[in-house]
Amino acid sequence: MRTLQKFCELFEGSYAAQTIAQVEEVYADLQKGSDAFIEKYSIHCPAGCGTCCEHFLPDITEAEALEVAVYLVFIKKDYELIEKIRNTSSRTQPPCPLYNPDSPYHCTMYQARPLICRLFGACASSDKNGTPVFRKCKYNCTDSMPQSLSITGSRPAEMEDFSVRINSISPNPTVFLPEAVSLAIDKIQFLAGAIGYIGSDDDDTPSPTPIAS
Ligand code: SF4
Ligand code: SF4
Repeated sequence: MRTLQKFCELFEGSYAAQTIAQVEEVYADLQKGSDAFIEKYSIHCPAGCGTCCEHFLPDITEAEALEVAVYLVFIKKDYELIEKIRNTSSRTQPPCPLYNPDSPYHCTMYQARPLICRLFGACASSDKNGTPVFRKCKYNCTDSMPQSLSITGSRPAEMEDFSVRINSISPNPTVFLPEAVSLAIDKIQFLAGAIGYIGSDDDDTPSPTPIAS
């Protein structure tokens, strides 16, 4: 994301900038791995589906939350949504405050959505024997896709690898998204206030895919 790169340049050397640069690297690798996997096995969600978000509230790392906060404060600049997140900061049950069924993305922070939301329905995982497997999401009614796949050839990108990488960026345990993002917004606003940075209009959100969107 260009604006995140700009943020990282402006705040070079800060914990937030270093953290976001690492998160972006994990997300870029995931996108590459997931794209290749999806293409190889023709995996796709039904158009417009976002059912996974209706029943889910992710718990996320501080690093993931910082990425959401920068996107929210500097790119989206949605003060109503910031308020909503603050008002739901003690929430531990669905719905996710970023979910909006009327949005074409379903996720109002699609570009900055956390790792689990990127992985779900789009990535292989290891079974108890360490064999890569993929099971179709229970809400996926796409007839052309089997319920599960036999994965052949080279190992695809797997959930566990990305989870380990994202968890290693920030040391604190994960917490539910509303609390994590509220805290991160405070940190980002404090940092930005120190140099009077107000962000950019450069929202380069890509077209949504229905996966976990
Ligand atoms: S994709 Fe967005 S709306 Fe859905 S659970 Fe994740 S953060 Fe929440
Ligand atoms: S993973 Fe895909 S099919 Fe499953 S609920 Fe999410 S968008 Fe729908």
